[in-house]
Amino acid sequence: MATIVQKFGGTSVGDVSKIKKAAQKVKKEMEAGNKVVTVLSAMGKSTDTLVQLAEDITDNPDKREMDMLLSTGEQVTISLMVMALKEIGIDAVSLTGWQAGIKTEPVHQNARITRIDTERVESYLDEGKAVIVAGFQGMSEDGEITTLGRGGSDTTAVALAAALNAKSCSIYTDVTGVYTCDPRVAKKARQLDSISYDEMLELANLGAGVLHPRSVEFAKNYQVPLIVRSSMVDKEGTVVEEEASMEQNLAVRGLAFEAAVTKITIERLPNNFDTLSNVFSALADDGIDVDIITQQVTGENEMNVSFSIHSDHLRESLDILKQHSDRIGYKDIRYEEGLAKVSIVGSGMVSNPGVAANMFNVLSQEEVFIKMVSTSEIKVSAVIPEDAMVRSVEALHTAFQLDERVPVEEKKKEKVPS
Ligand code: ASP
Ligand code: MG
Repeated sequence: MATIVQKFGGTSVGDVSKIKKAAQKVKKEMEAGNKVVTVLSAMGKSTDTLVQLAEDITDNPDKREMDMLLSTGEQVTISLMVMALKEIGIDAVSLTGWQAGIKTEPVHQNARITRIDTERVESYLDEGKAVIVAGFQGMSEDGEITTLGRGGSDTTAVALAAALNAKSCSIYTDVTGVYTCDPRVAKKARQLDSISYDEMLELANLGAGVLHPRSVEFAKNYQVPLIVRSSMVDKEGTVVEEEASMEQNLAVRGLAFEAAVTKITIERLPNNFDTLSNVFSALADDGIDVDIITQQVTGENEMNVSFSIHSDHLRESLDILKQHSDRIGYKDIRYEEGLAKVSIVGSGMVSNPGVAANMFNVLSQEEVFIKMVSTSEIKVSAVIPEDAMVRSVEALHTAFQLDERVPVEEKKKEKVPS
């Protein structure tokens, strides 16, 4: 008997009728002869509601108590799901994170799973029960309830799939799969049949919200095939796997973008060994997430350093730099708000030279100024003016042949002279 893991996100269990619908999916997999572990998120936006309750009391809620609070959301769904399953004749049992043996680091609000003791889950599976596990939560070795960071239920599901050696892990969500780009912005975006772990990881880290980045990391490390699919529409989803089947031999598989980027330039810094270390340690110590960094030597023993951040962190960053101005020793600071970042991602880039050049060509044809650039083996990102973001995304989507395409078979037919 194969074990399968499936996870339902908040919108897929947003009300009682949806919970009943998800229960039918569990039943179907049980009847197909599988051992089924189901991981659930909290209902709808209930985690946000809990966060709001805390914020109504304090600006600085205790992290341990936040975990105590937020972990209740998932407990509501798992118990209701078991009731729904029993109503349709399926024997089932709900387990909190710690009952399911999910052990984490002793960190609140953003803990990593360290191991999973699967005996309890396995013994219920052996008894023929459907096992329903609360996502997003675990327990540290010292017996504290922890949570895995917002969106962390995906990671619970993948980690369980790895620990149980499951055949696959399906993530049921409110979209039908992973798209070449956010279809709300790129009107011609299309769903991918498959995507590699590395590509998905880049896209997830670039803010494609469909999967928790850490869940993709887990899936890659343990080679768990992940399937992203809709809980509402009966349609094949997207498979995330090691080598995405090259549906087309394209260098770029997907596109991501993010608004509200600010570029800060620190001018005329001393060109010393410790200058960069001083600047970025000061920012890191205050938890400022710096994205792209560029450095430019401007004169005898002088340089400029630019970096990009989320615009929300502008004030704080400027304050920190001012506080440390003596130690850092710069002459001036400039900043530019109203920027955005667009990125192209694809494993095919490794073996295809000229992809970055192509991207810059497209942006130059659109008369878009490029403010900063960063690359990895399978990604190129450009910081551009925010008001050019949407048209740049659309132009890149078309230029890299990601738009809805004609299947190869039909193309061949077209070429046959009649
Ligand atoms: N309920 C949690 C959240 O909203 C975890 C999850 O849904 O993945 O972030
Ligand atoms: Mg999610």
